[in-house]
Amino acid sequence: MFTVSDFVTLANHGDIAVVTIDNPPVNALSPGVPEGIRDLIATAAADPAIEAIVVIGAGTTFIAGFDIREFGKAKANLNLADVILNIENTAKPVIMALHGTAFGGGLEVAMGGHYRVIAPSGQVGQPEVKLGLIPGGSGTQRLPRLAGLAKALDMCERGEPIGADDALRSGIVDRIIEGDLLEGAIAFAKEVARKPIVRTRDRAVTGLAPATIAVLASATMSFEEGCRLERELFDRCLRSTESKALIHAFFGERAVAKIPDIPKDTPIADIRSAAVIGAGTMGGGIAMSYANAGVPVILKETTQDALDRGLNTIRSNYASSVKKGRFTQEEMNRRLALIAPQLTYDGFEQADVIVEAAFENMALKKTIFGEIDTIAKPTCILATNTSTLDIDEIASATKRPEMVVGQHFFSPANVMRLLEVVRGKATSKPVIATSMALGKKLKKIAVLAGNSPGFIGNRMIHIYLREAQFLVEEGATVEQVNEALTDFGMAMGPLAMSDLAGIDVGWRIRQESKHTEKPGERQPLVADKLYELGRYGQKTGRGWSLYDANRKPSPDPETAALIRQIAQEAGIPQRKISRQEITDRCILSLINEGAKILEESIALRAVDIDVVYLNGYGFPRYKGGPMFYADTIGLSEVIKRIEAFHWQPAPLLAKLAAEGKTFN
Ligand code: NAD
Repeated sequence: MFTVSDFVTLANHGDIAVVTIDNPPVNALSPGVPEGIRDLIATAAADPAIEAIVVIGAGTTFIAGFDIREFGKAKANLNLADVILNIENTAKPVIMALHGTAFGGGLEVAMGGHYRVIAPSGQVGQPEVKLGLIPGGSGTQRLPRLAGLAKALDMCERGEPIGADDALRSGIVDRIIEGDLLEGAIAFAKEVARKPIVRTRDRAVTGLAPATIAVLASATMSFEEGCRLERELFDRCLRSTESKALIHAFFGERAVAKIPDIPKDTPIADIRSAAVIGAGTMGGGIAMSYANAGVPVILKETTQDALDRGLNTIRSNYASSVKKGRFTQEEMNRRLALIAPQLTYDGFEQADVIVEAAFENMALKKTIFGEIDTIAKPTCILATNTSTLDIDEIASATKRPEMVVGQHFFSPANVMRLLEVVRGKATSKPVIATSMALGKKLKKIAVLAGNSPGFIGNRMIHIYLREAQFLVEEGATVEQVNEALTDFGMAMGPLAMSDLAGIDVGWRIRQESKHTEKPGERQPLVADKLYELGRYGQKTGRGWSLYDANRKPSPDPETAALIRQIAQEAGIPQRKISRQEITDRCILSLINEGAKILEESIALRAVDIDVVYLNGYGFPRYKGGPMFYADTIGLSEVIKRIEAFHWQPAPLLAKLAAEGKTFN
């Protein structure tokens, strides 16, 4: 062990050097400490046996800050910024392992490293402002390069510390280490030992939104110069793909209301009362949507137990809104009073619309529709919330198929804005027009879809999720697949989405749709196995990933082993799969299936598909939806990539590409 100062020591763990700061009680940057860190890092870097260097604090914390008592004293005149620069120039990767409070000079030293890992309870911050100061070790310059401008401004201006999760999300740290920090940091160091070094100071500042630049100009430029800059930035924004995508989404959400064969003067019924069948996940949320819009709604179940469960969920959802200050207790009571829970069909004869949200089972749905056909008034709209089943077959259980329509809400139905209105072959125009208008009344965006298994959204998501599963069977990890798609901008990774929706739900849908599988077509193998093991995703605490009590995911080694075993048994060769391939295969699946849906007129226009994906599936709005995104990469490029995977491009896609056209 080498010691050049009383406060810092160096020890080698194989090819990883560990520099430990030991200046109790809080490892403050007293004279000798920064120099010690610098010198021992240099010693370690000069050792040919060493691949990477970990810097860690002894005791309860990393460096908690500068030694406040030393401010202004001659001895403390050492330039911290220079020391940090020296650390940053180290030719071998320097990994800062943070725990406790890495504040002020502590965070600045940490940002001089090439990587940062943190214990789950660790905190980082630039609290200098609380002493009337600003960061003095280049923190104002490095923090925006890691966290982006807005976050850095907030941290430096308010001086409030942030926790490990926030630090990870904002890019200040690279990983949270559960368990022993030093062990985790050494393992991380081995992973990055041979990677090229990226210095914080060489990174570009992100989050420098044009609006921020323009507003900052007001403080640094004359009014005229500021206005000129604003004009320039405005023009640049206007030409950007992001702005075009957002404008496409804005107009798209209005365009979907127009249905070419349904004239504007089609009579629209006023929906003043509703009835919902089934108080499960969907029925409860649908009933809340009606109550939120001030429409009285009957909620029917088969057993008192199920009814109580459903109502308890509704109550606790409302109560949490009250707690968050979204509305008052009186408002909650008013909404609850609009929901009439019951076990019978009493009052159904008054309803203007009945929405069936029972189990996804054709026989059950036909029985229910047969029953409501005998009770409902002639003008009542008979809607089903089925996700995948044939609307025409459901309608055939009634003597009035023209009154039957799909009203496909998305989970959670009281929150999600999308409503797919599904047109059966007999559905009347007034029923469609009324369903579209009803969407607006319930503050949803209604999109018309044709009657095809899964309609627009789920038909496409089925292909997308299938591809995500193929990727893990071929060697990608669950985490790689999820991350590639969230990096693309999806609100959630595909396998995280299956875990949220429920592996059991997917399984039930597969049972109902097995007859549509083409013989010889590759089918995913792992989801059924997870179902058999009772791993339904978030609701059982494990599925593709493991979930803790707060539903926070972590990798599940058993699932990983299961995937490898299944792949081996099926003879699927394993390989490393790039992030680009993961994203392409998933997103191109959406695009290719979208093109088929368009060609079959299941969607009226490409923009309808985009609106479905923006509002129902967390597709990034700044990319405009899958079909708009395809247009931005260019359809011939889309074809090229599809063919590279040896897929068959949808005929419409091939045709548009050949003609040099776009979807939108
Ligand atoms: P769920 O299992 O949570 O709830 C179904 C409820 O219906 C149960 O409480 C059950 O007791 C009740 N029920 C069954 N038969 C009934 C009857 N004859 N009368 C009254 N109640 C009855 O299911 P869910 O997830 O709410 O799904 C309901 C429907 O919505 C399904 O068709 C499903 O495909 C569809 N859907 C589900 C989702 C989703 O994400 N869960 C999204 C969109 C559509």
